[in-house]
Parts: sequence; structure tokens; C-alpha cells
Amino acid sequence: MLAVSNLEVVYDDVVLVLRGVSLDVPDGQIVGLLGANGAGKTTLLRALSGLLDIHHGEITRGQVSLDGERIDHLGPQQIVDRGISQVLEGRRVFGEFTVEENLRVGAHTKPKDRAANLERVFDLFPRLLERRTQAAGYLSGGEQQMLAMGRALMSNPRYLLLDEPSLGLAPQLVGSIRDLITAINEQGTTVLLVEQNASMALSIADHGYVMETGRVVMDKPAEDLLADDDIREFYLGLG
Ligand code: ATP
Repeated sequence: MLAVSNLEVVYDDVVLVLRGVSLDVPDGQIVGLLGANGAGKTTLLRALSGLLDIHHGEITRGQVSLDGERIDHLGPQQIVDRGISQVLEGRRVFGEFTVEENLRVGAHTKPKDRAANLERVFDLFPRLLERRTQAAGYLSGGEQQMLAMGRALMSNPRYLLLDEPSLGLAPQLVGSIRDLITAINEQGTTVLLVEQNASMALSIADHGYVMETGRVVMDKPAEDLLADDDIREFYLGLG
């Protein structure tokens, strides 16, 4: 299990952004992490992926552990090597490289595994196979999201961390991304899904967390969150 306990994070030595966050990502599940802009969701993902340093952030209390072993002192590559792969917010594909080149960049494995992983990614995303030799910069927003997810899957991760995969996508594409996340999970990858689109996240998550200003304010099975009056009013617009 991937676990965060009592985590405190500051930026630039002063700005306290996470104020004692605890969260569990049990194997096999999809865990949804909801919250308004600025709540600290991206910061939490950076802490899980070893990416705080490059953003001038630092853990000042608490810990991140994998199967009971601390991993919060590790760098990004060591974390990927332990099976935790992240898709950053904003997709960030290499626009001048082809789709296939973008995918190969994500693979830090032996050539034989690389071929198998590439095949698995093309199976999941037939669109990417069709556009294999095209420059990634010419892909649509939805296709770029698929490419970013595919690249993260090239290391065949045990955990996939997704930062707002539905951001800026048309409703129909949001549905495709949601179905793909379900398929990835069914193939054995555990997912931590950060989303502002609460209805999308809760429709597929097993468990959900809600963050507000650096704290977890709710932690419940997704179906209980869907039935919660505050969630319905503030996050689902169904008040
Ligand atoms: P969003 O959905 O807008 O990405 P979020 O919940 O992911 O929001 P974070 O991006 O983690 O929230 O931001 C939490 C707080 O930390 C915000 O107030 C933000 O301004 C601040 N912050 C984020 N990155 C940095 C940084 N590199 N230096 C200083 N402050 C930062």
C-alpha cells in the first residue's frame, strides 16, 4: 500500500501548503482526491513522486511510505523504479517528437519489456497506434492526455497518479478518459485520481478524499461521498 501520513509541506521555506495530510492508496483500488483550486492536491502528488525539490518545496513533517518503507527521501527516478508513475497536470508531451518517441521516453525498462509495454499501451489506446508516427504537438487535447497516460504506463507501474486528466476536455472525451482509467485499473494498476470533476472521479473511485486548504476534510467510500449533501451541493452542483 502507498500511504501518506501527517504530511506537512512548505514552499520556499515559508508557505505552509499541506498541513498534516494523511491518505491511503490500497492496492487494486481507484482513490479519488477532490478539492477546489489551491487546496494542495498537486502538491500532494509532487510529494508522492519526489518532485517537490524542483518546485522549491520540502516535507517538514510526516512521511510517505510504500509497503511500510519510507520513500519520501527518494528522487523521481527511484520512485518510478519502485512502481509509482505520475501523469502531470497539463499533459506535457514533447510536441516535436512522434507519438511513439514520446512513449519510448517513458520506458526505463529492458528492450523486451519495452516492446510488451508499447503493445499494451497501443491496445489500450488504439488512437495512439493510428497516430504513431505523427508529431505529438498535432494531437488533440484528448489525444495528448491519452499520450501522457500511455507514457506513464510504459514503466508498467503498480500505481498510477493522475492530475486532473479531464481538465479542458469535451464531455464526451471525459467519458472516454474515465473508461480508460477503469480499464487500466482492471488490468491491475492502482490509481490515485486527482480531479476537480467530482462526478467523474466519484463515478469510478472506490474511495474518496476531499481536501481544503491543505487538509483532508472528508475521507469516505465514494458512494457515501456521492450521497453527502455538502458534496452534492459544492462539488456536484446538485444542491
Ligand atoms: P490546482 O487544482 O489549482 O492545481 P491544487 O489543489 O492542486 O490546485 P496546489 O497546486 O498543490 O493545489 O497548490 C496549493 C497551494 O500551494 C496554492 O496556494 C499554490 O499557490 C501554492 N503553490 C503551489 N506551488 C507552489 C510553489 N512552487 N511555490 C510556492 N507556492 C506554491
